[in-house]
Amino acid sequence: MTTVPLWRKIQRENFTNWKQLAEFLELPPTLWEELVPHSSWPLNLPRRLAAKMAKGTLEDPLLRQFVPLKQERQVAAGFCSDPVGDLSSQKTKKLLHKYHGRALLMPSSACAMHCRYCFRREYEHAGGGQSKSGCEEELALLAADPSIEEVILSGGDPLSLGNASLRLLLDQLEAIPHVKRIRFHTRFPIGIPERIDEELLALLRKRRCQIFLMIHSNHPSELDDEVLAALHRVRLLGIPLLCQTVLLRGVNDQLDTLASLFNTLVNHGILPYYLHQMDRVTGAAHFEVAESEGLELMRQLQAILPGYGVPKYVREVAGEPHKTPLI
Ligand code: SF4
Repeated sequence: MTTVPLWRKIQRENFTNWKQLAEFLELPPTLWEELVPHSSWPLNLPRRLAAKMAKGTLEDPLLRQFVPLKQERQVAAGFCSDPVGDLSSQKTKKLLHKYHGRALLMPSSACAMHCRYCFRREYEHAGGGQSKSGCEEELALLAADPSIEEVILSGGDPLSLGNASLRLLLDQLEAIPHVKRIRFHTRFPIGIPERIDEELLALLRKRRCQIFLMIHSNHPSELDDEVLAALHRVRLLGIPLLCQTVLLRGVNDQLDTLASLFNTLVNHGILPYYLHQMDRVTGAAHFEVAESEGLELMRQLQAILPGYGVPKYVREVAGEPHKTPLI
């Protein structure tokens, strides 16, 4: 009999029902009208994140990131379902090749949480978390292209895979001689730090390829002691930790919020790598911060943080062979 790991049991307890969440957050009925009961990008929220949200208000920076609000129905010019041009770079449904030397493999379409501004929100996602990667076609394509030195595991979230599937996938990637680096893009530990379990640490240890772990965090309250302790265990393996952040209206568009986030990261050995100008995906217009505001925030951050604590401010332009620096 297979035992269900703790992190998977926790994930199954995610809030997926808006009414239960509204009651948990003690939202008055007048505010219920601001929620979207049945969004095509459904509510999927780990309880630990819900527990950090302020009660009785919709203005909480975590709530705004994860709870479907009526503002998403706003139709805005320039916002579309594929703002970064992923579809034109698709080799298969799970493999993108956009940048020189790097390919992006999406072994799972599931995530620990659903972020409202996600540029892949229009993709096919599996809410519960699939456990098998099934990437044979993609592995064959990677093996046939000696220009690819780095494989970025994204999704969805690659840590949605069970440990056995993940181990198999890493073994298969390492069997391709020209693959030298494997980079995880994950937000999983922010919502369910229990995902960094002993088995995962064991399978990441002593790999032929250099492993990188890029977390995604937008607000300092996401980084509590338990989350930081879980990430520290990965760092002890000699795996460099990086962080990408999306600049979001009503979440982190204030100097003190960003400074606190980046200070917390560097204090724990995690390098703030990218501050992304938000991708203009349908339903996310209310999150957009003007580039001029972002540039001003960057100037102010440069004045108060060490150089390594200031991320690159970038935007992704469809068709460009790299991220476009904004500063
Ligand atoms: S965790 Fe990443 S891929 Fe998943 S919904 Fe959030 S931003 Fe999108």
